[in-house]
Amino acid sequence: MKIVVLDGYTLNPGDLSWEGFEALGEFTCHDRTEENQILSRIGEAEIVITNKTPLTRETLEKCPRIKYIGILATGYNVVDIEAAREKAIPVCNIPTYGTRAVSQFVFALLLAICHRVEDHSKSVFEGQWSGAADFCYWNHPLTELADKTMGIIGFGRIGRQTAGIARALGMKVLAYDEYPDTSLEADDLHYTSLESLYAESDVISLHCPLFDSTRGMINRESLALMKDGVILINTSRGPLVVEEDLAEALKTGKIRAAGLDVVATEPIREDNPLLKAPNCFITPHIAWAPRESRSRLMDIAVENLRAFLDGNPVNRVN
Ligand code: NAD
Repeated sequence: MKIVVLDGYTLNPGDLSWEGFEALGEFTCHDRTEENQILSRIGEAEIVITNKTPLTRETLEKCPRIKYIGILATGYNVVDIEAAREKAIPVCNIPTYGTRAVSQFVFALLLAICHRVEDHSKSVFEGQWSGAADFCYWNHPLTELADKTMGIIGFGRIGRQTAGIARALGMKVLAYDEYPDTSLEADDLHYTSLESLYAESDVISLHCPLFDSTRGMINRESLALMKDGVILINTSRGPLVVEEDLAEALKTGKIRAAGLDVVATEPIREDNPLLKAPNCFITPHIAWAPRESRSRLMDIAVENLRAFLDGNPVNRVN
């Protein structure tokens, strides 16, 4: 059984092991695969593992030996699911592995905005403290989160975990979800409409998936409904936000700051308007990537393949 990984580098840049896959067949791993290399890299492989390398209908037609497609991620839009279904090729994903890592990262972004730790530390190493008149100074406004309201859009696994951390910091939580579970409500946690979430939140964190219905939901109109000086955090998907509109709102100060782990096109384009916006913190899609969650992802990917080989595929999306 030939197993090929088309783009293994981001999951395992060298600090994990592929041995789980190696034990299951003749294994080849490519760090990354360009579009014009996809067919030759798949070759005679029956098992194809991809993270972001697209597998189109045309590719599936030209590679008739493929029996199984494993995705090294939760999202599976890189594969033509319909074409795979027609050809009876199971496509299996990793439904959950990084809930804690992503919700922790929400607060890495939020606390960076509230305290500017890196900036202040840099100023100390540059001599500002040793030359200061007082025992302390700060170069940016500092913010306490207790008693502030965090609006969470998309109250699924990551949204709920994020709410738990927010409540531990003394924040109140307003949640919006298409399918509310009101049994979760408490004195400091209520479901609400999108409009009142926009109107009442001091911090808004996005955790809904990217669908046609959610694409561009943060735009000129919704930004206008938000409190002046709100903080926006997006660790979900870049295209939820109309980036030109957010850049403008950061320039006017309507939005005090944005913490973004995802942007519309990744890697980020040099002409992304947010690169010139003030008070905008952008990280290169790393919320999922602590070693602990990548290791969990690797284990689930191996178990998915083992289950398929045993004749009982799990985490099948088609
Ligand atoms: P989940 O499926 O558990 O939760 C998503 C929630 O959004 C569900 O409760 C669903 O009902 C709700 N929802 C669906 N449509 C909605 C809409 N129109 N408006 C409001 N809510 C809606 O998913 P999760 O595990 O919590 O992951 C959330 C998102 O986080 C994923 O879609 C993914 O895009 C993103 N993510 C990012 C990273 C990263 O590294 N930055 C890593 C993992 C996941």
